[in-house]
Amino acid sequence: MAEAKGVGAGGGGGGAGRKRKASEQEKEGAEEQSATLEKLLTCGVCCELMEPPIYQCIHGHTLCKSCMDRIVHEPPLRRLCPTCRAKLSLQRSRNLVADTLAESFLYPCPHEGCSERRKLSARAEHAAACPNRPRSAVCHFPLHRSHGEFCPWRGGSLEEFWTHLREHHPTMPVTSVQPGCTEVTQQIISLQTPCLRYECLWAFAINWSGVALLGNVWFSGTSSYHFALRVAQAPGDSRKFQCGVKVSGTSSEIAWKDVAPPATARVSTLQDEGRCLSLPKALVERLNTAGSGEEHLFKLRLVLSFEVVP
Ligand SMILES: [Zn+2]
Ligand SMILES: [Zn+2]
Ligand SMILES: [Zn+2]
Ligand SMILES: [Zn+2]
Repeated sequence: MAEAKGVGAGGGGGGAGRKRKASEQEKEGAEEQSATLEKLLTCGVCCELMEPPIYQCIHGHTLCKSCMDRIVHEPPLRRLCPTCRAKLSLQRSRNLVADTLAESFLYPCPHEGCSERRKLSARAEHAAACPNRPRSAVCHFPLHRSHGEFCPWRGGSLEEFWTHLREHHPTMPVTSVQPGCTEVTQQIISLQTPCLRYECLWAFAINWSGVALLGNVWFSGTSSYHFALRVAQAPGDSRKFQCGVKVSGTSSEIAWKDVAPPATARVSTLQDEGRCLSLPKALVERLNTAGSGEEHLFKLRLVLSFEVVP
């Protein structure tokens, strides 16, 4: 825009037309250049935009770091450039020209629905403040005993999440776990025996040294109980956590461990994909530590583990 104004000084009637033409040409040229750059910076293997360090084969075919990492770890015979089948050496060769081009390229914002573009050096700052960023905390507390409806709340920060829990779900038990601690015991005591499909037996929250976790125990109506720990953060958070659930009873102990699913994952999905601890009803009844004379009481000891995946 600034250039167009400068050219305008002293121009006549015909000058305005020429001016428009010149700025249109300039714009077209810039778009063309950006499209060419985008093509040059697209990894030939995964088709994603590459970021420095960018690598190449001996014939100059570029590939991104994660594709290079994957290929050089393949058995030597398969360690080939996916474009020309030239051997890729363990001493990877960098492409510094591509790295320099990447530094001046305007990368699209990573958030869905946002059309803003920024240089790599400014992209993180924009993404953190982008109006289209996923809200960092979700609630998804089961609103009814049966898992049909969930609390739809989404907030900006984890602090807001804890305030929301206190104000809207005051009955939800919250445990705090100190940094460095990787295991915590949770006692489940329920007066009801569930009978409906996806019926929630117990819900709890854990503040695991700053990370908000939601725990659920439900009955699937197919004579099984399910135990899950979910991260109350939107899937946009790139950190991965591993969580585990162990049910200990009087005689035995059953354990499960996996990457923690997000709080938005449906219980039916967790169940179908085996991303929770699922136990047959008869076994859970055996693990029930409620004494005689407490027939309708349900007492289970859960040992929960949690850590950041290295
Ligand atoms: Zn790639
Ligand atoms: Zn090649
Ligand atoms: Zn954005
Ligand atoms: Zn809620």
